[in-house]
Amino acid sequence: MLTECLGIPHVSTGEMLREGVRTGRGITPKTAAKMQAGILVKDEVVDAMVEQRLAQPDAERGFVLDGYPRTLVQAEHLVEWLDERGIREVVIHLAVDYNIIIARLTGRRECPRCGTPYNVVLRPPKVDELCDLDGTKLERREDDREDVIRARLDAYEQQTRPVLDFLQSNGRRVVKVDASNDPPEAVFQRIGRALENQ
Ligand SMILES: [Zn+2]
Repeated sequence: MLTECLGIPHVSTGEMLREGVRTGRGITPKTAAKMQAGILVKDEVVDAMVEQRLAQPDAERGFVLDGYPRTLVQAEHLVEWLDERGIREVVIHLAVDYNIIIARLTGRRECPRCGTPYNVVLRPPKVDELCDLDGTKLERREDDREDVIRARLDAYEQQTRPVLDFLQSNGRRVVKVDASNDPPEAVFQRIGRALENQ
């Protein structure tokens, strides 16, 4: 919604890395192999990939970075890169209550037969744990288990939270937007208002 509204490209490191693995372009076979083994890609590799992307003509008038910077090293690299080019940034911090994330994710179910998604809290099936369409017993995705989700949140706290602290203490414009409960359109409006104020 944001990139459409502003007419600038969406630069997602996750998408670029997955695309790189699929097509073999932009990343080395060694990096691709590491990613498939679940090993985190090195900061230098991600930094170089982002720089290359931002040098494309469509990013001249601005861009939305998504999933980057994810580590302190990447953040330090990025602010230096932006400052060298006189580019002013706004950091949008989508704040979500952990208990709400956990409730939302652990409630997710899917019909293994027809793929219909459910949520025991937000969109429950008519009969407990059974698909409305074909009566198949619903399943939970392996990575939606509470211990897996907590591990992911811990990784966020340890790796990405320091990025936010760094950007704030560095005097960067950080805008906190509450994204706990509302649909995407409402969160988008909040982001729009926050950007106008900047
Ligand atoms: Zn079904």
